[in-house]
Amino acid sequence: MSTLLEVSGVSKSFDGFKAINNLSFQIGEPEMRAVIGPNGAGKTTFMDIVTGKTKPDEGTVLFGEKSQSLLKLTESQIAQAGIGRKFQRPTVFEDQSVSDNLMMALKKDRSPWAVLRFRPRREDHASVAKLADEIGLTDQLPRKAGELSHGQKQWLEIGMLLAQDPRLLLVDEPAAGMTPAEREHTTDILVEAAKTRAVVVVEHDMEFVRRLNCKVTVLHEGSVLAEGTLDHVTANEKVIEVYLGR
Ligand code: ADP
Repeated sequence: MSTLLEVSGVSKSFDGFKAINNLSFQIGEPEMRAVIGPNGAGKTTFMDIVTGKTKPDEGTVLFGEKSQSLLKLTESQIAQAGIGRKFQRPTVFEDQSVSDNLMMALKKDRSPWAVLRFRPRREDHASVAKLADEIGLTDQLPRKAGELSHGQKQWLEIGMLLAQDPRLLLVDEPAAGMTPAEREHTTDILVEAAKTRAVVVVEHDMEFVRRLNCKVTVLHEGSVLAEGTLDHVTANEKVIEVYLGR
């Protein structure tokens, strides 16, 4: 496993408050990683920094084997470089079919002009079929995305991100609002995706994190408090203190 993302000495303050405080850590390729931490730990700010939504005050964020700095890139350049992000709320095109949603997501260029001119090729249909299989929505392909269940919409959106073939996929609370069976399916999709890329899952649900069966990074006050297996970090005195307020 080689290093894909290297965050070193990153800090970010908002109105004098350090949301991220000298944060350093690495993500490998391929790797599944869970990031946990109490509210306000800096998880969202960390994702905002990696995806270019927020620029840090200090530190470096390097990506890929050429250690490309992400700090001077725009959000769309970072996406083009191979970093995808899934927000909690799915943003699928409700009036379009599942198939068309996946088809459009294959396009690297999403400008209105490129979208209008888009004509699917034979290999695009094959890619849509493969993606639908990966997310378990093959039998839903003709349906309008707006008719899907909450869980199915989330899977569709994961499929749309996978269509861009990101090297690093950041996923924010993928299991929120899902039934146990939907959570299980979500785990399967993410575990499969992490076989060929880096997947970073920010999650509150410890049962979900347990099923991911991966290295866990605990953030607290904008820094790494502990790192290791879930059993290892949940046995850590500092982690117990932070979570239980002892
Ligand atoms: P988490 O996602 O772990 O709950 P966040 O990254 O959202 O944590 O927030 C970390 C801290 O930074 C919080 O105390 C939050 O209030 C603060 N913060 C985050 N973004 C902003 C912002 N744009 N302006 C001011 N404070 C912010």
